[in-house]
Amino acid sequence: MEFEPVIGLEVHAQLKTKSKIFSPASTEFGGTPNSHVSPICLGLPGVLPVLNKEVLKYAFKAAIALNCELHPSSRFARKNYFYPDLPKGYQISQYEEPFSTNGWLDIGTNGSSKRINITRIHMEEDAGKLVHDNHGNSSFVDLNRAGVPLIEIVSEPEISSADEAVEYMKKIRSILRYIGVCDGNMEEGSLRCDANVSVRPKGSDKLGTKAEIKNVNSFRYVQKAIEYEIKRQIMSLENGEEIVQETRLFDSDKGVTFSMRSKEEAHDYRYFPDPDILPVVMEMEQIEEIRNSLPELPDQRLARFKEEYKLPEYDAGVLTATIEIADYFEDCLKEYNNPKIVSNWIMTEVLRELKDEEDIKSFPITPDKLGELLTLIEDGTISGKIAKEVFADMYTSGKSANQIVEDKGMKQISDQSELENIVSQILADHPDEISRYKAGDQKLMGFFVGQVMKQTQGKANPKVVNKILRKGLSN
Ligand code: ADP
Ligand code: MG
Repeated sequence: MEFEPVIGLEVHAQLKTKSKIFSPASTEFGGTPNSHVSPICLGLPGVLPVLNKEVLKYAFKAAIALNCELHPSSRFARKNYFYPDLPKGYQISQYEEPFSTNGWLDIGTNGSSKRINITRIHMEEDAGKLVHDNHGNSSFVDLNRAGVPLIEIVSEPEISSADEAVEYMKKIRSILRYIGVCDGNMEEGSLRCDANVSVRPKGSDKLGTKAEIKNVNSFRYVQKAIEYEIKRQIMSLENGEEIVQETRLFDSDKGVTFSMRSKEEAHDYRYFPDPDILPVVMEMEQIEEIRNSLPELPDQRLARFKEEYKLPEYDAGVLTATIEIADYFEDCLKEYNNPKIVSNWIMTEVLRELKDEEDIKSFPITPDKLGELLTLIEDGTISGKIAKEVFADMYTSGKSANQIVEDKGMKQISDQSELENIVSQILADHPDEISRYKAGDQKLMGFFVGQVMKQTQGKANPKVVNKILRKGLSN
């Protein structure tokens, strides 16, 4: 029997407000343990949480960008459970009345795009962190994260492979970063997901029993964890075993998932409306204001890049994957207005040097500097080949293209008589090759050009050289 996987993701994104969701404590990453806390984060008796207005604004922005229905009135609920990183004994979340439902996003490119529906998005607070002492037998509690604002984006079980899951997550990250509500830093835990995985006989319309893999915090782990889990479930079924509904963890060293606990049901959490927090009410005008404040989203920008700059789908996709690269590209065009050439340089030379696309902000070759370099090629000052060397030098020295070309005497030699002298010398030195060329070995043209380049350290203008050589060899 053939099986097919079914995946649903619950993505947690940290909203990048300065202070926490219900307290004025800082959300800054790191910091001495328990230094970013207030009595509210600690759950001390008698405190009253107050919703941070910015959180609401950011959450609505995200929901609009993810095509969700918005509910002007929503409620916070208590999700009760015990864990040492949760001093209140409950997490404040939204349950029966989330602020937004029924959204979607498209993954893949226009050629093969797929819509993944979003069940709901709700706001909630993060928990603290346990730091385990590997040598002794203690654990330490750091509550700096407790009360950090999150949105949880819950997808329908409509994702069909690990690749699609990664694409979906990348798209969410891209959108949230475009609209500036989440920094998307997965290493710091600003974006992570729980992956729900099941398998079923191919073509069946019934869902299989799922396992939930908790807290996966990199694209690579999402890929590996889901791939492993699909294989594991198929193997179990083929061995005649049943899939147990459970919560699992991904061990990134071993590349396997393992059981953490049997799955708890919603009723185990004893959800109830938080009596300390008033229902959230948004005015229509506020929502419209937020809607109008949204920038161009990745899909729109991709479509515009294709339309306005006549770029191929592939280029437009690469250039709009992050807002930083898209901005960099458009800033380059202000200096040098040939979109396809700029795109080629970014997709090869620039992206090769970047470990992380977001590092483009501190990239030593700023858009105006790249524009200057490309102008030097265009006006014939340097060849495309030399330009790559100049680029490498710009990257390490931070100098401008003009300065490097000047300092190193890299200007292209286009002077007719200078090149004629060099060519006639080379022809005089290679009578054998000339006869072979004249006897029909056309490939030797490349040899002669190579000789000229060697002599001029690659600075000869290839167009001019070709013309002179052709003339010289036809005599
Ligand atoms: P639970 O009650 O276990 O929290 P939910 O119905 O709330 O489950 O769904 C949580 C997530 O799991 C959603 O993203 C949903 O799409 C996904 N999901 C639900 N059932 C399945 C299934 N059988 N296989 C894969 N994913 C599923
Ligand atoms: Mg659920």
